[in-house]
Amino acid sequence: MQELSGNLFIVSAPSGAGKSSLISALLNKHGDMLVSVSHTTRQPRPGEIDGVHYHFISVEQFKKLIAENEFLEWAEVFGNYYGTSRSAITANLSQGIDVFLDIDWQGARQIREQAPGTLSIFILPPSLDELQQRLEKRGQDSEIVIAKRMAEAQNEMSHADEYDYLIINDNFDSALGEFERIVLAQRNNYQSQLYKQKALLNQLLAKPAK
Ligand code: 5GP
Repeated sequence: MQELSGNLFIVSAPSGAGKSSLISALLNKHGDMLVSVSHTTRQPRPGEIDGVHYHFISVEQFKKLIAENEFLEWAEVFGNYYGTSRSAITANLSQGIDVFLDIDWQGARQIREQAPGTLSIFILPPSLDELQQRLEKRGQDSEIVIAKRMAEAQNEMSHADEYDYLIINDNFDSALGEFERIVLAQRNNYQSQLYKQKALLNQLLAKPAK
């Protein structure tokens, strides 16, 4: 991608690891970050709002967007299509806004290829038992879906070694603290600072005249 001033973060996790709650909690603390709203062909769950949690679209619409090269990445997850809108991401990053991508390992691979500077974070549950309990407590999915999601979770976790950072979400507040530290440190990377502190750095980093 061309020169973009905001930071792009990939956050992946098996469902039930607490990824969405961690991202929401961080965004509540920091007004200058946002999470990208993906497009999906899956049905909305109770309480999910179109345009807020996802853009819910048909398979036909999704395929049209693929053909129009509108997705920065897309993947099939649990039998449904999910994709990240290229234009929405670019518009936000170019305004200096940090953007989180809540995507799976397949999408993460595609993003790393296109935007090598992207920082990726993987969130793990403290144990498989705890993960199963969290999925059951949600009460959103049937037993068959939960069993399938447990299998998918193990598949997702087998790709954790492809990520820059790992967070174990045992205690939520500790995990949030770790998440925040990683994100805030990334904001001080050289390219970001060069953009945000342009005028100051032009003065301070100028080569002295001989
Ligand atoms: P859910 O259906 O539970 O909301 O999400 C299922 C999985 O799809 C999660 O791992 C989530 O991170 C992933 N996902 C959501 N949006 C996208 C996307 O735009 N691209 C990709 N590759 N994965 C996504």
